[in-house]
Amino acid sequence: MYECDIKRMEEKITAFGGFGDTGHGGITRFSLSPAAIQARNEIKLRMTRLGLDFKTDDLGDIYCTLPGTDPDAKVIMSGSHCDSVRQGGNYDGILGVLTAMEVIETIVTKKIPHRHPIQLVVWTNEEGALYEPAMMCSGIICGKFKKEEMFASVAKDGSGKTFGQALSESGFLGEEKNRIEPSKTEALVELHIEQGPVLEAGGYDVGVVEGVVGMINYEFTFHGQADHAGTFPMPYRKDALFAASQALLFLHEEFDKIGDKELVYTTGKISCHPNIHTIIPDEVKFTLDVRHQNPEIIKKCVEIIKSMPKEWANCTMSYKEAWARNTVTFHKEWVDDVENAAQKLGYKSHKMYSGAGHDAQYLSEIVPTTMIFVPSKGGHSHCELEYSPVEWCWKGANVLLNTILEIDKK
Ligand SMILES: [Zn+2]
Repeated sequence: MYECDIKRMEEKITAFGGFGDTGHGGITRFSLSPAAIQARNEIKLRMTRLGLDFKTDDLGDIYCTLPGTDPDAKVIMSGSHCDSVRQGGNYDGILGVLTAMEVIETIVTKKIPHRHPIQLVVWTNEEGALYEPAMMCSGIICGKFKKEEMFASVAKDGSGKTFGQALSESGFLGEEKNRIEPSKTEALVELHIEQGPVLEAGGYDVGVVEGVVGMINYEFTFHGQADHAGTFPMPYRKDALFAASQALLFLHEEFDKIGDKELVYTTGKISCHPNIHTIIPDEVKFTLDVRHQNPEIIKKCVEIIKSMPKEWANCTMSYKEAWARNTVTFHKEWVDDVENAAQKLGYKSHKMYSGAGHDAQYLSEIVPTTMIFVPSKGGHSHCELEYSPVEWCWKGANVLLNTILEIDKK
């Protein structure tokens, strides 16, 4: 089994932590921002210095290729994204880029023979933090979004700049013919931090990711009557917020009864009208996000929603499905390769589904794909507390390296 260089891994993490450093342990590196362009230039510098070919496509996605011994062999790709959310961490996305870079550096410096070309890929605008939506460019490639609509996406910072303008000014706008070619791609392996507490809590070194959980998103609306908070006795009220609270508790209790510890559900957005402390609320809305890998469990949740009473505390309730996505299952053979690589390295691994969305989930529709998870300290992510000690990152890189070398044998 081959191993990457832990000192080099550490140097990479430290160096890239400087691009968009918030000064208190975090990163703000919106896609195509000056900090992101610095990171991209550094990737270009380091990869071309190792002798790799550097290209971008018409979406600014980066591809750096290390040729193999067989000119007809398909490409094995690895990478992730280098943008972050506001005050995010130095690991989400970028660790998948840095471990792929470290794997390539190891292959080059140790002169490890390989038949297939090995390619670093960096997807543009995964977070969608400045230009919505998330997973924009992998989504365009996989036919989820229209390029013209995405290029017209306006920055959320009030600058009025569109994604298309930012891309042309970035110096990373390339040609459409450089996009990933499914017929010439053997595999895509994306390493990412877990962004949850499961691996650390279980004492696991890596997560073997079997897929990405399916999810449903509903919006509930409660209608009551706005009246004076002082003059209206309780029995006469139609308080939409009180009604919504009861319905929310009901949903939690019913979902808990399903008794599945992998089922997660969240109300993360709520609005209350008129939201004035002296007025009984007349309209309340809340969202409900439900995720699980098994469609049967999701179906049970939908049945609970559909069987809910339409009246709560004298108020009427209505709901609609805002959107949904099916569970994505990764390429079984690569999933097994990741598990075997971890085992041969003597690492403790855990098979799991990703609760978060990743570029790999779109790409898996066009190329055989899988993912590797590195534990997140305390499970924190999308915040400045996001952290994975270098030894954990290095172990992830070693699993990535040996997985790629195993796929190369095929
Ligand atoms: Zn990410």
